[in-house]
Amino acid sequence: MSTTRLLGMSRPELERWAEEQGQPAFRGRQLHDWLYARGARSLEAITVLPKAWRQQLAQAGPQDAEGADDWIGRSRGVHRAVAADGTTKLLLATADGHTIETVGIPAEGRLTVCVSSQVGCPMACRFCATGKGGLQRSLAVHEIVDQVLSVREAMEQRPSHVVFMGMGEPLLNIEAVLAAIRCLCSDLGMAQRQITLSTVGVPRTLPRLAELALQKLGRAQFTLAVSLHAPEQRLREDLIPTAHAYPLEALLADCRDYLAITGRRVSFEYILLGGLNDQPRHADGLARLIRGFQSHVNLIPYNPIAEEQFQRPTAAAVQAFRRGLQERGIAVSVRASRGLEADAACGQLRRRLADSLAPAPAAG
Ligand code: SAH
Repeated sequence: MSTTRLLGMSRPELERWAEEQGQPAFRGRQLHDWLYARGARSLEAITVLPKAWRQQLAQAGPQDAEGADDWIGRSRGVHRAVAADGTTKLLLATADGHTIETVGIPAEGRLTVCVSSQVGCPMACRFCATGKGGLQRSLAVHEIVDQVLSVREAMEQRPSHVVFMGMGEPLLNIEAVLAAIRCLCSDLGMAQRQITLSTVGVPRTLPRLAELALQKLGRAQFTLAVSLHAPEQRLREDLIPTAHAYPLEALLADCRDYLAITGRRVSFEYILLGGLNDQPRHADGLARLIRGFQSHVNLIPYNPIAEEQFQRPTAAAVQAFRRGLQERGIAVSVRASRGLEADAACGQLRRRLADSLAPAPAAG
């Protein structure tokens, strides 16, 4: 969407914007406080601003579905699902009527927000629910930052970590993703080290991501996680059709370049699909493939999706795979299965609700 929204702007940018509107610069600082610290949803609600100015802007600017001014660019919550362990999944409606998923995952002393970077996804990984619907569009900066604010509001807790592991492929939306990371750090006070960007790999973009990150953020300290999912090319292509255009050797060479440019070690994700890629020989192949990376591997047991017949790995297979890597000196973690996942793995809540929601989603 082309219309400017204020969410995602830095303090100097908000000052400049206020001045362009004929206001003193300090109005920009007030806006900053209300946007980020107080989570204002419309200019109308920012009562420290002169009423005449607010009214004038409300008439001139974008409006949301309820007729309130939409200068800020907050989305509307249309559904919320809370699991017994507190995991909270939000379905949010964008101004143009798309729905996106975002999840708040509480754990001792932390709150991790799993954000989407696109509406849908074009990568079509076979085990992924999001990929089944294709890509609608990429998200704008304000729509990414809004997800973190929406989880903060819903859970009444400050998010400590953000992972780009919701819907979409972040490397197909690099500019907005980096602008959102800048905003989360500078404007919401998060640490870059608490942010993870997960990618399945897009040819020739990792070195570009590294360079743009240095340019736009000053340093690249967020974690880059690469979804490998297979120790060899043929099996990887079976699971990830787009891998056809991006051989494993090229992907790993790009990971080395990324490390050389940023000084940050890349971590790897590996989905475990029962009987398919979870056998000891796969662990062995994976260890050999990433030897020398001194990397961390995150194992993700498959969450079944409606459209496919893949199997969950057995608990014994997960443990054996983990041990197989550890014995070869690789640091491993296994993603804990969290609430909601049985019926709402990434992309599934949206698809399940798509049938019951009208095209312009009803308030929930
Ligand atoms: N496009 C990015 C980020 C989104 S998905 C990427 O591919 O990395 C975040 C992680 O969840 C990826 O590792 C992805 O492969 C994994 N994932 C997707 N569907 C899954 C499922 N049904 N069960 C378990 N993990 C899944």
